[in-house]
Amino acid sequence: MNMSQMGDMQLYISGRPDILKDANITHILSVIDEDLDPTLFAGYEHLQIEEDDSDEVDLIRQFKRCNEFIEKGIASGGGVLVHCLMGISRSVTITAGYLIYKNKWSAEQALEFIRDSRSIAHPNFGFREQLDIYARNLAQAEVALDTVVDYKRYLFRRDVNTALVMDMVPRVGEYAVVDVQSLMEGEMVVKCKKCRLDIDINSAPLALSRSIIEHEKTDSRDPEAVCERYFVDPIAWMKPELGKSLMEGIFRCPGCSEEVGAYAWSGTECNCGGWVIDVFPAMVIWRAGVELHDPRVPN
Ligand SMILES: [Zn+2]
Ligand SMILES: [Zn+2]
Repeated sequence: MNMSQMGDMQLYISGRPDILKDANITHILSVIDEDLDPTLFAGYEHLQIEEDDSDEVDLIRQFKRCNEFIEKGIASGGGVLVHCLMGISRSVTITAGYLIYKNKWSAEQALEFIRDSRSIAHPNFGFREQLDIYARNLAQAEVALDTVVDYKRYLFRRDVNTALVMDMVPRVGEYAVVDVQSLMEGEMVVKCKKCRLDIDINSAPLALSRSIIEHEKTDSRDPEAVCERYFVDPIAWMKPELGKSLMEGIFRCPGCSEEVGAYAWSGTECNCGGWVIDVFPAMVIWRAGVELHDPRVPN
């Protein structure tokens, strides 16, 4: 499919950059991992992002640079063409990222806008998820992408999945490990019951509320079911256990050695909602062994 104009913007998407004559194109953004004939781009401002169209590719990391390039092209009074191989996934994702950034749109709004003029627009599954993460965390993503919790969880899940596909035991990347030392405003702490009551009322937390990963009930077979577990990010005290290269295991409290949770790299289900929800990868703290505690309230 040939070039499509995004509404009345000077912004276009195409597959291979073969038709440039009708529009006032001055800037070309190529999102493609192959060597391109440089003569195609003579006389244009050209930026190439060498990425494959694959679920595992991290395109969010490129958004800032691409947004600046597109912005500059439009501001110069020219037109910007974003192309990949087919104009379906990569170029659409970069363009949607720009529209989200520019208009503070949701991923769905950006994609609907693009599909109005380019019905084949269809980012791959990973890119689609990245657009949601980007839209949800726009302000923070613009200044410090590496601190966006959603993004770190996404990368962690991706890396674990890659290892599983290769039949390897996943490792926990440092970027995914959550610090439970510095408490944020209004945050709750998860404490080991035994440590707190028997050993030291001021014992170190096992987790903070920010490290709990929410999940949705998708099955209502047992509407009264109460979750028996917290799914959490990998936390610093879990590292020795997670470093054992086992597919699953038990977490013991670093303070009292009581069993407080478990992990399974390939995921596990929650008891709520009739055991249908996969949480992957699963680092679990059993609710029965811990207390969610407001540090501002005296014991
Ligand atoms: Zn303990
Ligand atoms: Zn649950």
